[in-house]
Amino acid sequence: MAEEKYEQTQLYRIRHSAAHVMAQAVLEFYPETKYTIGPPVENGFYYDFELPQPITQEDLEKIEKRMRSIIQAGHDFKKKVVSADEARQIFKDQPYKLELIDGLEKGGLDEYGNPLKEKPEISIYQQDTFTDLCRGPHVDNTRKINPSALKLMSIAGAYWRGDENNKMLTRIYGTAWEKPDELKQYLLMLEEAKKRDHRKLGKELDIFLFDDEVGPGLPLWMPNGGILIEELEDLAKELENRAGYQRVRTPNLSKEDLFLHSGHLPYYAESMFPPMEMEGVKYYVKPMNCPMHHKIFGARPRSYRELPIRLAEYGTCYRYEKSGELFGLMRVRSMQMNDAHIYCSEEQFEQEFMGVIDLYKKYFELFGIEKYVMRLSLHAKAGLGKKYVDNEQLWIKTEDMVRRAMKNGNVPYVEVENEAAFYGPKIDVQVWSAIGREFTLATNQVDFAVPARFDLKFVNKEGADEIPLCIHRAPLGTHERMIGFLLEHYAGAFPAWLSPEQARVIPITDGQNEYAGQIAAQLRDAGVRVSADLGPERMQGKIRNAQLMKVPYMLVVGASEAEAGVVSLRMRNGDQLNNIPLAEFSARVKDRIARRASEL
Ligand SMILES: [Zn+2]
Ligand SMILES: [Zn+2]
Repeated sequence: MAEEKYEQTQLYRIRHSAAHVMAQAVLEFYPETKYTIGPPVENGFYYDFELPQPITQEDLEKIEKRMRSIIQAGHDFKKKVVSADEARQIFKDQPYKLELIDGLEKGGLDEYGNPLKEKPEISIYQQDTFTDLCRGPHVDNTRKINPSALKLMSIAGAYWRGDENNKMLTRIYGTAWEKPDELKQYLLMLEEAKKRDHRKLGKELDIFLFDDEVGPGLPLWMPNGGILIEELEDLAKELENRAGYQRVRTPNLSKEDLFLHSGHLPYYAESMFPPMEMEGVKYYVKPMNCPMHHKIFGARPRSYRELPIRLAEYGTCYRYEKSGELFGLMRVRSMQMNDAHIYCSEEQFEQEFMGVIDLYKKYFELFGIEKYVMRLSLHAKAGLGKKYVDNEQLWIKTEDMVRRAMKNGNVPYVEVENEAAFYGPKIDVQVWSAIGREFTLATNQVDFAVPARFDLKFVNKEGADEIPLCIHRAPLGTHERMIGFLLEHYAGAFPAWLSPEQARVIPITDGQNEYAGQIAAQLRDAGVRVSADLGPERMQGKIRNAQLMKVPYMLVVGASEAEAGVVSLRMRNGDQLNNIPLAEFSARVKDRIARRASEL
């Protein structure tokens, strides 16, 4: 199955055309504007301008209004192929366009500054009074843009060509859809996503924090976050133990030699923290666990009888991400990875690969992830020996193995060319949260090259040395990304097994404080994470606090409950069970935890 290219969809044309219409409107209001590029992006489009003056949200409204009238006037989008000199004449007052034309003429770069294989033809698109350097595609007439399914969203700063040494431009983001309903849905989703923002919930629910003195991208996990991490690790350990994984531990740093050996240095150096020197030797904090696991595999001779060997570790890795690219828990500099490396023979590959897919499916079911897709990134012939290990035959063979395994396992997948890892095909797992937001949580790789660099081998049935394949897999991704995702997916209302605080006992008056304390102690003995709120606040306030912290179960106890030795259960979803024996509640919560159930 090939991925349906966004570039080929009607929505892409609509958004690209809307970007041109927006640029026309902006130029009408601010004729001295220098315009740069305006591509469609996921869910919309943008255009970057050098404006003669700053603009505000109110200006967007007037631009949007003007866009609607341009659309309704029904102008054709007309394409014309021109020579570089003609293009220079047309855009003589537009320095950014002149720069782009130079790039196009020399070849090598398209009008967005992206590398090109062949020298492109130069074309312009015109609608009404506006002309853009553009290779399309567009809708044929502005009327094909639905004026009621269009909205300008925000203003941002962006450097020309993304380079901070260049001028800061004004980027206007917009969104466009085929039908007004789709726009409405999208805006609702954005609103809901804002409420579910993991950075906001992470603070409200005391999960994690960032501290200036600790450093950007280096999260501190508070006790509640610590519980989430431990629950996820327990889950992974349980499933991985059952699937025959062995757990290892490796240090957070190593000598430079290891990463030179693995090839991370110098190629990956940009993504690594700089070295530290001690006793004349350079050390690096690890960006990946693989080289250390390879060392463990290679520590002694291996026979085919031992294979597959599955080495697992929740390893902490450190990667240098630019400050500007850090984003909450989604883009960080220290990450705890649900890592494992499976060393296997070629015959074992499909079964091992399917074993990994099975793990994914179990996690998806557990977390109620209904929509997911695996993106299989392949090599490209042109990149052999540069971006990719120079062995076409092995590439084709490995890619076929992965494809076959996905097909046999009925895994929804799409193929993407020219995005593989250096040493083998890559499988990115994309999932959609409960409100339809897309996340890339985990990456798997099939490595047919690095085991040889580390001289890894096993003695096969025929008594000869053979190089194992290595599957790098991390179904739960990193704790950082996974917890960020789960916060948004559940809107912070975790199922009981995952909730940092599973139950809170709330006495109606001080008179029941002692009883509340006893109940909490009994539940704690039964393995429930519980607290008793014995503070001075009134009951209603205590209930509200528990709800704000999204505690799944509240046990309200008054004088009658204390006398009868029962509790009244209020659940997070509003359900109530009055006057139930503590044993009944205890059995209920223990059952939910043991099954990791999603229902309360
Ligand atoms: Zn264009
Ligand atoms: Zn790895």
